[in-house]
Amino acid sequence: MKHTGFPAALVGLMLAACSPAAETGTETVADAGHQADAAHTESMTSAAISEADLRYRISTLADDSFEGRAPATLGGIAASQWIADEMARIGLEPGHGDSYFQPVALLAVTLDTDQSSFDIAFNGEPLGLSMSEDVVYWSKLNSSDITLDNSELVFVGYGVVAPEYGWNDYEGLDVEGRTVVMLVNDPGYGNPDSGLFNGNAMTYYGRWTYKYEEAARQGAAGVILIHQTAPASYGWNVVSGSWTGTQLDLARAPGEGQFASVESWVTEARARQMFDLAGLDFDALTAAAAEPGFVPVPMAGLTATGHLVNSTETLESRNVVGVVPGTARPDEYVLYTAHWDHIGIRDVPEGEDGLYNGAVDNATGTAAILEIGEAFVANPPERSVMILAVTAEESGLLGSAYYGENPIVPYDQTVGGINIDAILPTGRARDVVVVGHGASQLEDILTEAAAEQDRYIVPDPNPEAGYFYRSDHISLAKKGVPMLYADGGFDLVEGGREAGEAMGADYRANRYHGPADEYSEDWNMDGMVEDTTLFFNVGSRLANSDAWPNWYEGNEFRALRDAQRSE
Ligand SMILES: [Zn+2]
Repeated sequence: MKHTGFPAALVGLMLAACSPAAETGTETVADAGHQADAAHTESMTSAAISEADLRYRISTLADDSFEGRAPATLGGIAASQWIADEMARIGLEPGHGDSYFQPVALLAVTLDTDQSSFDIAFNGEPLGLSMSEDVVYWSKLNSSDITLDNSELVFVGYGVVAPEYGWNDYEGLDVEGRTVVMLVNDPGYGNPDSGLFNGNAMTYYGRWTYKYEEAARQGAAGVILIHQTAPASYGWNVVSGSWTGTQLDLARAPGEGQFASVESWVTEARARQMFDLAGLDFDALTAAAAEPGFVPVPMAGLTATGHLVNSTETLESRNVVGVVPGTARPDEYVLYTAHWDHIGIRDVPEGEDGLYNGAVDNATGTAAILEIGEAFVANPPERSVMILAVTAEESGLLGSAYYGENPIVPYDQTVGGINIDAILPTGRARDVVVVGHGASQLEDILTEAAAEQDRYIVPDPNPEAGYFYRSDHISLAKKGVPMLYADGGFDLVEGGREAGEAMGADYRANRYHGPADEYSEDWNMDGMVEDTTLFFNVGSRLANSDAWPNWYEGNEFRALRDAQRSE
């Protein structure tokens, strides 16, 4: 269903809604859309953490009328307005001065694919890479016209500089003006027994964000990331789906920030073709890249040439924040985060569904933190609780990164936080998965609270996927704040691990970042209710104590936190 945008009546209300007045909770599009069940809304949500409340909020946020909640679109504006109204309705206080909104300025860069080109040539002979099929490319430069001219290719392994491991894939290499080609994930993935890079669990060095950041720091003009499904932990469809269309970043002036001219991914098939042409053994070099002392390899005869035409625009999105003031130590805050945004609408052939409703990702998490906020209003804690729904997570954790740089509450007053991102409607699970397990003392509190539900804690079964670096808690963790990112597990009460893993695999294969991630009345909500209750209990223990949980000894964020708290 090629989406034709909002019905006229709704657009009228929207414009009314976007006026400053809207921030104070006057009637908005969302309410207009749900006028029929306004009375229903009032009576339906309660202080208790309930299936009905979660269903109401998830079905609302994942409704077509919010158009997949892309930041700075009509759908995104309406959804964030609805969240603010919901915060006001359930009794949360405005969390940003007298507003529920923390504005987040974004830079939207849209590549004009008709006028742009990017290709690899072998001895001047173009390979004819086609956009989306073989390659996706873009530029983060705040510029309308970018060129890359016969830039020589060099393979830099995993493209990592990690002093703590004595590792430098750019050792003695000048990549100024050149195009670096690299593998996704980190050397620990390729060589888990090396004892380096946290073994098979992905470190931040394995994340695409780090790869482009490091290549830019090194002065590369072009960057080519080789996509392989296993080390990336997602298919090419996610790459071609996520990196085409308008790219968002935190707003910055032209020339601000350090970026390669052209950033890209290529398919494994095309990468193998390039290695063959250059007379290089792809598999042997992939193995060598995971060995200490790897030496980068020029890819003889291969050059990259591109001409990118961008239109850039500064947009504004917003984090939505509400607070339950503490009764005894109101200056100390416990944080709950969840991103409200999703992918929005994609251009698709007539008859296909281009609307990415983002029901699991992350209407569930947003609904859960609202539900938790409502429960705290009814059970006022000693410390304050902040409910923070962030924007632009799908574009690179931008809303939380913005909060990270512009915290509303100083970090030495932020006790810790819980991030909720994508709760699968699997039914109750005996286990609770901790993403980035073994990081902080928050896990001790979680273990106790889970035991009350007769549940046990397990590490993330896919540490190589690097989920710890792929959601909003990392923006706060990077600032030293102990953050927990956990989720219902796979050892289901009904169907056991087999059923749980099958559901997880089905979600990842068929609905993750796809138009099929839609809400359904036949979802089994038992697990979601139990998980939301668990996260409430963890926060309640923290908010009704004077504990200051820290990162465990040796954790990458511990030193930062110690310094923060010592002040
Ligand atoms: Zn998400």
